[in-house]
Amino acid sequence: MTKTRPPQAGPEILEQVQALLEDPDLQGHPLHEALAQLRDYALAQDQRLERLMRISDGYHLLERNHTQSLADRCDRQLRRMHKLARISDQYQKNLWEVTESLREAANQDPLTGLANRRFLMERLKDEIQRAERKHTPLVLCLMDVDHFKRINDRFGHEVGDTALCEIAGAVRQGVRRYDVYGRWGGEEFLLVLPQTSLAEAEAVIDRVRQEVGGITVGEGESLSLSASFGYTCLHSGEDPNDILKRADIALFRAKEAGRNRVEQEA
Ligand code: GH3
Ligand code: MG
Ligand code: MG
Repeated sequence: MTKTRPPQAGPEILEQVQALLEDPDLQGHPLHEALAQLRDYALAQDQRLERLMRISDGYHLLERNHTQSLADRCDRQLRRMHKLARISDQYQKNLWEVTESLREAANQDPLTGLANRRFLMERLKDEIQRAERKHTPLVLCLMDVDHFKRINDRFGHEVGDTALCEIAGAVRQGVRRYDVYGRWGGEEFLLVLPQTSLAEAEAVIDRVRQEVGGITVGEGESLSLSASFGYTCLHSGEDPNDILKRADIALFRAKEAGRNRVEQEA
């Protein structure tokens, strides 16, 4: 036996009920009053249901907007944090680069790219301390280009500058990997030779002398360069100025003796 489904409450059934209630033949029917009450009740329920659905829809919309705006805010915050991290990385990189170039500028001779006097003085102090501590020999050498004024006078200051760069290259070629060297000022260069005896130093210094001697400056009536050298070894308890003074005395002797030579002061 098939079960008959109860009629669905809906607009059609309400229309049918309404038609029955309005039927003139059914006026005064004993169920007329009950049917009218049932219709009113159904209408009221309908309205209540509709109100509830509107509230529920509104609530869902609110909820969705709220969740969405939370997610949006979270997303925006994350993006902002990523951006900040990128800026901070870039900032740190820039800061590091600026610090590096400042450090380089502070220690480097801008013309030749060699270590400058400031850096050399620091390294000399360090090397003296190390030599004292480890009881190892240390040699200091001052080099001065011969008659450099003539280069400027004959070819101009720019050619003189280029010559100084070539001289820097010659020094670099002549020294060993662990030697400390740089531009002491003007056309003077300084070499610090750690763990080196006077005899070993002479070979290194003479190599630099020959490298400088290989440089010619100017075209046509070109000039060959040469340099004079004065070197000495560290005595126990000395400070940088003591050893520098002695190297300078040796250099003076090299100049006096005719230049393009290496002189030692014990
Ligand atoms: P000496 O053999 O006695 O050392 O003679 P010198 O001519 O080399 O010595 P002096 O001290 O009379 O002259 C050094 C010259 O070096 C004078 C100066 O103009 C030049 N000089 C110093 N620094 C620079 C520089 O950066 N560029 C150029 N082009 N010349 C420089
Ligand atoms: Mg000089
Ligand atoms: Mg000179």
